[in-house]
Order: sequence, then C-alpha cells, then structure tokens
Amino acid sequence: MIAHRGYWDTPNNAQNSIQSLKMSNTIKAYGSEFDVYITSDGVLVVHHDADIQGVDMESNPYSLIEKLSLKNGETIPTVEQYLTEGKKYPNLKMIYEIKPHKTEENVKRVVLATLELVKKLGVEDQVEYISFSKYICEQLLKHNPKSHVSYLKGDLTPTEIKQLGFTGIDYHFSLFEKNPTWIKEAQSLGLIVNAWTVNKEKDMQKLLNQNIDYITTDQPELLQKLIQ
Ligand code: MG
Repeated sequence: MIAHRGYWDTPNNAQNSIQSLKMSNTIKAYGSEFDVYITSDGVLVVHHDADIQGVDMESNPYSLIEKLSLKNGETIPTVEQYLTEGKKYPNLKMIYEIKPHKTEENVKRVVLATLELVKKLGVEDQVEYISFSKYICEQLLKHNPKSHVSYLKGDLTPTEIKQLGFTGIDYHFSLFEKNPTWIKEAQSLGLIVNAWTVNKEKDMQKLLNQNIDYITTDQPELLQKLIQ
C-alpha cells in the first residue's frame, strides 16, 4: 500500500505535507508518495500543481514559495525537509514523483538536483522514482543506473518498458482492465507493477486478485483491511 500524496485524510493534515508523511509511517504504509518541482533558483519543493496560489514553481525563486502555506498551516516543504523527515522511518519508502517540467533544461536541473540531494542525505535505498515523463525516467537512469524508476503514463507495453530499462510500471488501474494480461506479463519480465489511484474497494479487490505488487490510494486504511 502506497499512500497517495502521503496519508493526508486525517485531522490537521494536507496533501504532500510533512504531517502526511508522518501519518504514512504511523499506519505502516509501504510507501508515501509525493510530487516534486524545482524552483528557478534550484530548490526542490514538494507540491502537486505547477503553481501554488498562482505562484509558478519553475519560474520563481524559493523565497516567494516559502511564504505560502498548506491548508494545515505548514509551509510548503522542500524536498530536503521531506526526505530528512522520511529518513527517520527506514521501513517507509519515499515514492518520489518528478513532475514534467516546461523546458528540457529544467528537466535536467530537477533530475540532477534530485540525485545529488538523495545521495547527500544517504536515502538512496529508501527512494523510488516515478514520472509521467519518459524522458525524466531515462535521465534518472542515465545518471544513476541503480535507480528504481517506474513509468506512470500508461502508453507503453510491459515489453517496451523492459527494453527501456525501467524497473516498473505504475499505471492508472483502468489500463489493467483494458489490458488484462499486463500485470502477469510485466511481472514475468521482472518488472514491479503498481496501480494508481485506487480508492474503491471493488477496484482494489480486482487488483489484489491479480496479485499486483502495489496499489497507490487515498484510502490506505481501507486497502490495508482488504490486504489483511
Ligand atoms: Mg503524484
């Protein structure tokens, strides 16, 4: 079970907050997922949208972003703050989504800054990368061939993913209904298979029946009950 944007649906909490990461650990999730952008001055920040309250991440410095708060009052976490908190929970994976960026230059900046920071903090074994961008996945592997990288977009077959050298597929669950052989096929190629974002019991159950490896959800406690 992977908590989507952390386990955020609890009191005094917000998506992609430090509190949501703490709660993922409290309920013993396999992983806590979060989204990342790089600012114009090279600070990695945790947030889902390309802008926060109208302030665009990629084209503004962190000094503008740090003035903004999440709905639980936390400031927007930097990735350094987030990973430093996550390092306290060695059994919790940090599922690090690099968002598509507007320019190729920014893609290279976000990938290199990410790999450097993860190495500096000593959390390489605790971080697993995901992205909708094939190019970002390729860049992550190019600069660190040991990276665990799953592709999100769903437009490539398990065989194509294997050929690219990615370690897994992480697709919208509807794609596994349209392509009912993909879970087994991917697993037989040695790929890890995950589905997002599965919030209904019947959809979770279908995937569990097919022995999927991981499910990303906004309803982690419901999924845990089904797994048990
Ligand atoms: Mg995400």
